[in-house]
Amino acid sequence: MLPHLGNGFDTLPGVLDDAGQGTCVLTALKDNNVRAWPHGCEELPGELAHCTPFSGHVLNILKNGTTDHQSRLTLGLLRDAVEDEMRRCRFQHDRPRMLLNDARESRALFTNRMDPARRAPRPDTPVGAEEWVATLLRESDCDVEELLRDPRKTGDVVALLRTSPQDGAAAIAQRIDEQAFRRFRSPQDFARYWNKAERALRP
Ligand SMILES: [Zn+2]
Repeated sequence: MLPHLGNGFDTLPGVLDDAGQGTCVLTALKDNNVRAWPHGCEELPGELAHCTPFSGHVLNILKNGTTDHQSRLTLGLLRDAVEDEMRRCRFQHDRPRMLLNDARESRALFTNRMDPARRAPRPDTPVGAEEWVATLLRESDCDVEELLRDPRKTGDVVALLRTSPQDGAAAIAQRIDEQAFRRFRSPQDFARYWNKAERALRP
């Protein structure tokens, strides 16, 4: 199938050369007891209409990108884009599922091939600590400068990440903690940060 995707690709379009830990399995169905629709999706262009709907929609997103503002497709972004496209498709597809094993949702794997002019604008900087955590877990190139202006909020975010069950959360917490140590030089700022961040370390 891949060589027929239009531009003579002999590998997945836009694949990034990124060796990382863990595995990720995208499956066609959320529910193991349901059988996947065996025929293609007529909404998909060209050869992709002959794939099963799940494979077809995945390849369509790899080929054409998604309107998200980011230039690289992370695992989380790819999953969200496939889910979104399959939900909006006029054929009522089953929802796919992604299983991560030691891999991070923010792991960038593919180039987003959507023309930047057709992508959505970059969303506003996250506001609350929970919003920061969600963004940090999902995006590969999240800029934490804005967060580091607020020692208390930085501490809240690190505490939430340290107690999060999500793969990769602890590593992100450690990275921000290291930046906070360098950034918050004054005893007052450091105390503001540490009072919040160390909550997660208490037994
Ligand atoms: Zn479809």
